[in-house]
Order: sequence, then structure tokens, then C-alpha cells
Amino acid sequence: MEKFDLESLVRSNIWALHPYSSARDEFAGDEGIFLDANENPFGQNNRYPDPHQRLLKKALSIRKQIAVENIFIGNGSDEVIDLIYRIFCEPKRDKVIICPPTYGMYEVSANINDVEIIRIPLTSQFEPDIDKILSYPARCIFVCSPNNPTGNSLQHVERLLREFHGIVVIDEAYIDFSARKSFLEKLADYPNLIVMQTFSKAWGLAGARVGVAYASEAIITLMDKTKPPYNISSLNQAEALKALSNPLEFERQLSIILEQRAWLEKALEKLPVVRHIYPSDANFLLVEVTDANAIYQYLVDKKVVVRNRNSVVGNCLRITVGTPEENRALLDTMVKWLGA
Ligand SMILES: *Cc1c(COP(=O)(O)O)cnc(C)c1O
Repeated sequence: MEKFDLESLVRSNIWALHPYSSARDEFAGDEGIFLDANENPFGQNNRYPDPHQRLLKKALSIRKQIAVENIFIGNGSDEVIDLIYRIFCEPKRDKVIICPPTYGMYEVSANINDVEIIRIPLTSQFEPDIDKILSYPARCIFVCSPNNPTGNSLQHVERLLREFHGIVVIDEAYIDFSARKSFLEKLADYPNLIVMQTFSKAWGLAGARVGVAYASEAIITLMDKTKPPYNISSLNQAEALKALSNPLEFERQLSIILEQRAWLEKALEKLPVVRHIYPSDANFLLVEVTDANAIYQYLVDKKVVVRNRNSVVGNCLRITVGTPEENRALLDTMVKWLGA
């Protein structure tokens, strides 16, 4: 990328923003008599959380081999996506490129922020149509790799990073399930890159709402000053730290999920109702069946809930890899399906 000028991509109100300075910003020591934040002095969760999530960032920094200055922690990926629009996209003026079928929040958040969406569908190989993308002026683009709901890792993203004149967000929510390398390694090469990850999938903390963005220090500084001061509760920071402190449990769960993904794929393949299973680098399978709506409804009636993606990829169900028992139950239920 030639001549990257961050300021030219940032909304002027955000560039000029003086962030809220919290009590805990002005004095950040661990010990003292804290009479600065109007907290109740009694109780367990009476104190405001660390607005900069220092311990969590430190642990992530070690795990990912990335400087803390390149890490932003959001209240789920939702907050990260929202902040990206709020920082880079002027309502009613700037455009975002989205490549369906993909994660729905990129569109919803664009709509909330009144950012115009240019939809450039993935090709039949579920790859971004790079030439077409580069022919549109847009402030930012979201790509998801491995992609939800198609499950594949995208092949040609690097060309986007080199040639797209805006912010390239790569959502790596599912990267831990993939054998392919994360774009985190490329952070130093591309000042226009934001990599999103999350604690909601492989780390098993969807309930805690902890999303992460990795980017240049300049972009992270913008995200930090734009976020609500105490965006991550102390309870959620503690849970994410706890997960990071137990990498063996992470590896154990991951290996079961990967083994089960292979098992489920083999087992589903044999069913007459299954037409095609797309290769997956994620913790779900996109499965084309004979009649997605009918099979979805049948499964729900049997209390097995999968995601019906018929409206986005014809006759496809997106099936999350569960425990061995859950996967077995899904299969047993599917086997009993006698529809068309
Ligand atoms: C599940 C998922 C996320 C996670 O979102 P959180 O808000 O962090 O729970 C992000 N991106 C994609 C593509 C997902 O499928």
C-alpha cells in the first residue's frame, strides 16, 4: 500500500475527540484509599473495572506475541464492529463493502450507523471478488476468514491489503479451528489492517462478551478513546484471563471439536438427505440438504436446533460441532428423517 494516511480515513469529530477521563485514568495504582469514583466502599464488585484491561491485554500480548499497544478489547465483536464504523465511516457519506454470504452483524451495524453498504457477493468458490471490490470507492471492507456461514478460509485477502484504499477488517472469529495462519503476523506490514478475534468461539466464553481487535498503535489509540470508558466488566475481564491462564484446557477442547468436526462430516456424508458438505476451517459445517426448511423444522420439533441458512445459501443448514453426545444425537435424529 502506498502512502497510507490514517487521518484522511478518520471522521474529523473522532480525530479531534478528547476522550472522557475516568477517575481510574487519573490514578491507576492498585492500592490506596479510593474515594475518587463515588463507588460504594462495601461489597465484591463495588469497584469500577480497569478501563484499559491491563492484565488481560498483558496475557493476550504474551499468548499472541503482539504488543499491548496493538490490542483493543471490546464488549464482544459487536462493539468492535460498531467502533470501526463510528471511527471511519461518516453517516450518509462513507461506504462499506460487505461480501455476502457472511456474518450478518457487519450489515446491521452499518445500518445502525447509517453507513451505505455496497454488497459484492463472494464468487461461486466463496472467494472475495477482488477486482470488483477494488473498482468501488469505499471507506472500509469487512471480510471474514474462515467465513461464516461458508466455513472456508479466504485465499486472496493479501491483495486487498495491498491495493484497497481504505481499512480492511479481517474477522478471524474462527481462526483457532483453522490450520491456516492468522493475519496477525502481517499487522506490521499493513497499516490499513484490523484483525478481529473473539473469546466467544474456541475460548468458550460467548457469555462473557469479550471481542478483540488487533491493529496499528494509531488505530488502537482511536478505538480506545472512542469506546465507553468501562466497556469490559471486571467479571468478564476475570473470566477471559482465567481462560487464557489454562491453555491446556483450550487445547483439549479444541482437539475434541476438530476430531468431532471430521467425525460429523463423515457421518453426515452418508445420509441420503445430504447433498454436499462444504469444507470447513471453522467449528461448524455448512451442509446442503434436499429440503433445508423441512429438515430444519423437523429437527427443531425434536429439540435439535441448527441454523437454517436456506435464505443465504440455498438448502443449506449450518451445523455447529457440539459434544460427541450432541453430535451423535443430531445424527440419530437425522437418520430418522423420512421426508422427501
Ligand atoms: C460468532 C462470530 C463472532 C463473535 O461475535 P462476539 O460478539 O464476539 O460474540 C464474530 N464474527 C463472526 C463472523 C462470528 O461468526
